[in-house]
Amino acid sequence: MTDRQRDRMYGGLLILLYAALVLAPVVAVGIVRWETGHSFLFTVGKNLALAGFTMVALQFVLSARFRWVERPFGQDLVYDFHKAMAVVATLFIVSHPLLMAIGDGVWELIYDLDVGWDIWLGRIALVLILGHVIGSTFRAALGVDYELWKRGHNAAAIAILVLAYIHSRNAGGDFDLPFLRWYWVGLLVLALGTWTFSSVVRPWLLRREPWTVRAVDRETHDTWTVALEPPEGREPFEHEPGQFHFIVFRRGRDLPEERHHWTISSSPTESRIRASTIKESGDFTATIGETRPGDEALVYGPYGRFSHRFHPDEGDLVFVAGGIGITPMMSMLRFMRDTGDRRRIRLVYTNIAERDIVFREELSEMESGAAPDLEVTHMLEEPREGWEGEEGMLDEESMERLLRPHLEERAFYVCGPPPMMDAVLAWLRDRDVPARRIHAERFEL
Ligand SMILES: Cc1cc2nc3c(=O)[nH]c(=O)nc-3n(C[C@H](O)[C@H](O)[C@H](O)COP(=O)(O)OP(=O)(O)OC[C@H]3O[C@@H](n4cnc5c(N)ncnc54)[C@H](O)[C@@H]3O)c2cc1C
Repeated sequence: MTDRQRDRMYGGLLILLYAALVLAPVVAVGIVRWETGHSFLFTVGKNLALAGFTMVALQFVLSARFRWVERPFGQDLVYDFHKAMAVVATLFIVSHPLLMAIGDGVWELIYDLDVGWDIWLGRIALVLILGHVIGSTFRAALGVDYELWKRGHNAAAIAILVLAYIHSRNAGGDFDLPFLRWYWVGLLVLALGTWTFSSVVRPWLLRREPWTVRAVDRETHDTWTVALEPPEGREPFEHEPGQFHFIVFRRGRDLPEERHHWTISSSPTESRIRASTIKESGDFTATIGETRPGDEALVYGPYGRFSHRFHPDEGDLVFVAGGIGITPMMSMLRFMRDTGDRRRIRLVYTNIAERDIVFREELSEMESGAAPDLEVTHMLEEPREGWEGEEGMLDEESMERLLRPHLEERAFYVCGPPPMMDAVLAWLRDRDVPARRIHAERFEL
């Protein structure tokens, strides 16, 4: 069995496990209590709450950045699933009192103020989850700072879990069943234990073994490469080219300490160094140039599936990079160069202006080297007079010219700003390039 087949099987098993955990309380209660004495709608409403609470608890596992969870799918797919399940769980939980009220005509559940405290806890949990999912969906559009949102997200998630737990244990009609009581305790322990591990224990373990910044090199007017080394006596983690890691810089000097993901732009052929090339693109990254050799950083990884190494059956490739989206491509190209991989690579690299092109010299050296057999096309939105490369943005016309010759046999790797990625991916899909030959990495969450 190949690694890919093993990963697929493992991913399938994880999906089955998720479905089994969500359905288990519904099926078990349904078997033991198939005569409920309630209307069909009431029973559906009750079951939706059982499934919804289980999904809320499992959200903690999905967001804990466990490598055993993300390995077969990639972190972005796991995040997408986490977001989608938040919406589904919210729909289940909102439908729960509505269907019960409609089914058995118990409208007091919805509007009566004179209900037990456990019903009130359920109502608060419901309002919290609804408000939170809406807020999270529109966070960027509302201009809410990511770090602020993350703090609120953590607090709201725990509050929803605990309130919903107490509500269901007290108000739920089936919690006289020992199986359900223990299942609920198990879910609560799983969720809170996972949160404690990822928010307290893991950071504490990482803080005991900080990495050291070895070099900070300016690449362009707003982009820096930071090279990191693990503490003496510790080997850095193994990774594939194109994967990313999380870094928390601990620089002191009143500089912010936040966890961010960045691609490992160095090649795995580097023995001890893991480097990231970081563009000043927001509040935190605006301070990246103030990082100094000798500063500490907490580093953990690797994550992600955006690497040609996960697709050993592929031959020649096309890389389409926009702006800082070049970093995973660079890691893959460096790896090919260092391992003498002579496959043909067509790189289309778009930027706003010439001064934004990262790794320009190294790419040009690689082009004249033997491995890989690289052909680079630079494209600029705002070229200077006399620019000899491509001009404008990737559109139908330029994609027809630059990408069409490779449609039949090559795999495509795409990473860059969302509008560019959307245009390229739509263009490839419209031309029936099979999904297995299209790989994309999004830097936006
Ligand atoms: C898989 C992956 C690989 C990436 N690789 C690179 C790379 O090689 N080079 C590079 O320059 N950038 C990379 N990024 C983007 C980088 O993570 C963001 O540019 C950076 O987090 C922005 O932080 P900021 O606070 O400066 O920007 P802000 O303007 O404050 O935030 C901009 C956006 O970045 C995201 N963001 C902000 N803070 C965090 C955080 N703590 N954790 C997660 N996301 C956050 C949010 O979506 C936010 O809306 C990568 C992103 C991902 C998802």
